[in-house]
Amino acid sequence: MNDQTPPDFWESCLVCPDCKGKLVIINNVITCTCCGSDFSVRNGVPCFVSEVMTDHQKSEFEYFQRHLTKIRETSLFYNQNENCYNWVLPWINDRTVSDDSRIICVGASFVDDLPHVQSNYKFNIDHLSHRYAELLPEIQKANIRHIAGVSEKLPFKDNYTDIVYSRNSLDHVCNPVRTLLDINRVLKPEGKFYLFVYHNSNFIDSGETTVVNDDFVEQFLKRILRVEWMKIDPSESQGVTQPPVYSLPNHERLGFLYAICSKTLRTAYYSDEQLRRYEELTANFHSAVYYERKSQLVNASKHFAKVMSLSPFLKSDQMRILYSKIRYLAINDPRAFIDFFREFKNHNRDPFWWRIIIDSSRHFMKRELNKTINLSFVGEEKVYLKDVLLRGGPRSWIKRVLSEVGLGSIVK
Ligand SMILES: [Zn+2]
Repeated sequence: MNDQTPPDFWESCLVCPDCKGKLVIINNVITCTCCGSDFSVRNGVPCFVSEVMTDHQKSEFEYFQRHLTKIRETSLFYNQNENCYNWVLPWINDRTVSDDSRIICVGASFVDDLPHVQSNYKFNIDHLSHRYAELLPEIQKANIRHIAGVSEKLPFKDNYTDIVYSRNSLDHVCNPVRTLLDINRVLKPEGKFYLFVYHNSNFIDSGETTVVNDDFVEQFLKRILRVEWMKIDPSESQGVTQPPVYSLPNHERLGFLYAICSKTLRTAYYSDEQLRRYEELTANFHSAVYYERKSQLVNASKHFAKVMSLSPFLKSDQMRILYSKIRYLAINDPRAFIDFFREFKNHNRDPFWWRIIIDSSRHFMKRELNKTINLSFVGEEKVYLKDVLLRGGPRSWIKRVLSEVGLGSIVK
């Protein structure tokens, strides 16, 4: 459909994400008539993001590239297996919207979750849309118009849209608080925001920024928007896209949060400085985890150190700061790491943190961890010690594994 989206259509819908001024588009160059900012149209996609990718974007883009073949083989336009698809359709369908209804999806990557919903004003805004359009030109044939932009600065006027929806993306955006504030801004007074997101998901991830937990719902979601209806379903299984078992505290269960919200007339509650520092913390955490995964430890520990120097904004940031400290010590100072562990285990009995600590010790136990050891006592033949540690297990078991390689003194 939007192969031929003409410039004047974009000009009539979009505004400058920075100043909300009027845009003009000439030869794929988008210019703001108010502040003079220049943007561009790339692969048919209006593009309001920088050409240089952040580590957070690199992490998500590399994941996409790794799965490109599989993505091509399956449905390009929507994923019927996603709970959201089944959840959101009864609320947003051809009976409830007209050709003129304005619908903005925030962060749906390259898909159209609502392929059966007809509207001339159905948009998806994602920070990698122009790159998806380059590798999957087919997405331009879907019944949705893709825009490359960030959810913290939506390129729409105040009170523009009837519907905003967000599927499995609020925990990925750089700043979920600014995102909720901007969604509230663009909603019409009678508009609705449909939210679907993992509840209590993993904080140790180079793509996920936020842990949407009870604290986040009370302190941010309910203060920024009016929550009309909400439910949380427990997650039944650990799928491929979900966090590994060892990364969730035992007392927290992974679930799905569904909410229908409407606009409030409240204004900002948080200072720009607070929000900027929070973005700094999450950006550095994304980078640290990204480089650690790539075994670029000098870079990783530079970013872990930065996280340690910042103060928490969300309650879950406290977990990021502690995690950064553990990883930083394990990379840079094994002796201090072991001292820290001895002290830590006296006052923190949470097996979640014990597993993180034991997993972190791989940074200075590389030689030992690549040994295969005999694990006949758990009914397996030869396995890599690092795999055992990543899987977690009862403390007596981990202790026995560590003593196998002469490191039993770490766990007393
Ligand atoms: Zn502008």
